[in-house]
Amino acid sequence: MDISTYNPKSLKAAEFISNDEILDTLEYAEKNKNNMDLINQILDKANKEKGLTHREASVLLACDDPSVNEQIYALAKRIKMNYYGNRMVLFAPLYLSNYCVNGCVYCPYHLKNKHIARKKMTQEEIRREVIALQDMGHKRLAIELGEDPINNPIEYVLESIKTIYDIKHKNGAIRRVNVNIAATTVENYRKLKDAGIGTYILFQETYNKKSYETLHPTGPKHNYEWHTEAMDRAMEGGIDDVGIGVLFGLSTYRYEFAGLLMHAEHLEAVHGVGPHTISVPRLRPADDIDTNDFKDCINDDIFAKIVACIRISVPYTGMIISTRESKKTRERVLELGISQLSGGSKTSVGGYAEPEPEEENSAQFDVIDTRTLDEVIQWLLKRGYIPSFCTACYRAGRTGDRFMELCKAKQIHNCCHPNALLTLEEYLTDYASPETKKIGREVIAAEVATLKPEVAKKTSEWLEYIRSGKGRDFRF
Ligand code: SF4
Ligand code: SF4
Repeated sequence: MDISTYNPKSLKAAEFISNDEILDTLEYAEKNKNNMDLINQILDKANKEKGLTHREASVLLACDDPSVNEQIYALAKRIKMNYYGNRMVLFAPLYLSNYCVNGCVYCPYHLKNKHIARKKMTQEEIRREVIALQDMGHKRLAIELGEDPINNPIEYVLESIKTIYDIKHKNGAIRRVNVNIAATTVENYRKLKDAGIGTYILFQETYNKKSYETLHPTGPKHNYEWHTEAMDRAMEGGIDDVGIGVLFGLSTYRYEFAGLLMHAEHLEAVHGVGPHTISVPRLRPADDIDTNDFKDCINDDIFAKIVACIRISVPYTGMIISTRESKKTRERVLELGISQLSGGSKTSVGGYAEPEPEEENSAQFDVIDTRTLDEVIQWLLKRGYIPSFCTACYRAGRTGDRFMELCKAKQIHNCCHPNALLTLEEYLTDYASPETKKIGREVIAAEVATLKPEVAKKTSEWLEYIRSGKGRDFRF
């Protein structure tokens, strides 16, 4: 097979996500999936906790030997603990508008869907929603919009970000706004950067160009190159934290997996910094969408294996799971590599301040995990995790390569751990139910005891300030 066009340093989609290279990788993985010598070599390399190439990781993904799988899961758990500890960062999505000119066949917001309620929030409505989110305890949002130059121009996005950051209600504040909007120009990315966004998130949906073009038959998103090269433009525009992902179920999972890792390798090769996060959404039923129409949907076991293989391939990249997944599935994959999750989410336009009337369904997909944020926090605490609302790195300018340096040196513990405890205390003091508060305080006391003495001292002092109302937003 001719793989001469493959070049991770190229800025052309066809070269850094070379179809030939992916097909060759899949063939190599299939041929070697029982080659124990090679598999042991790959596991040895993964054991060093510095990551794997897309080829190596693809061999592990293809291998179905139970003892190898056990080793992969054990390794993923260890890497997760070594890099991220027992912390879980929480966020909520906020859908601003579901107007969209694209024809994505798996999304109910596609242009031809005439029975979904179309909504676009005014700044006043956004204000109400953000206050409701602050009152739940959220500090970190991911804003979502369909692509529509008339209804959702960049000016609307920028104005909304400003509105969100400006709202200070009681002790609440949204301290990091991540943005998930359609692929756009370098100039617009620069404007988003100037507006102070956290991560720019854009899912590839599928790396398979042929499937991509069939699944996106109309609208600007049909252009595979424009979409696939978006992260390079975002980085050129100064955004150094980018979040990638595919929608598992659109094409064969092994193809997507190789493409995802090749994309990460490309960003690292060109910009010196890989993706900040990788999301692992799976296709979900929604208005106008029947998952039976998609033959490549993946089961829970394959899903867990993908999460574990991503964890050991890119140890320093955060991994996100949403409420598309059930409590049971989330429980399983949290320990295999997830570092961020959403809680108490609504996937409709609005719906936090007041529930959306049933006849006005504007949701992008059906939420499976419908628990409140407090229930999610309590569940995490009971399972030995520390829920964190930390946004310190971004606000201290530790983004992009500065963040990665810290992360690759496994130094994030020294800031993440106390910051997690401080932001958890803010949650407990301001928003938690009595039971969550009680469990959370016990966890905090036990965790403070594990900190270095000078850090423990400062942390205890700040915890007391938070409890007595003397201040908020302390961070290392
Ligand atoms: S996936 Fe995004 S671009 Fe496609 S129809 Fe839905 S909102 Fe629009
Ligand atoms: S200290 Fe930085 S890396 Fe750690 S949780 Fe906070 S923002 Fe994330």
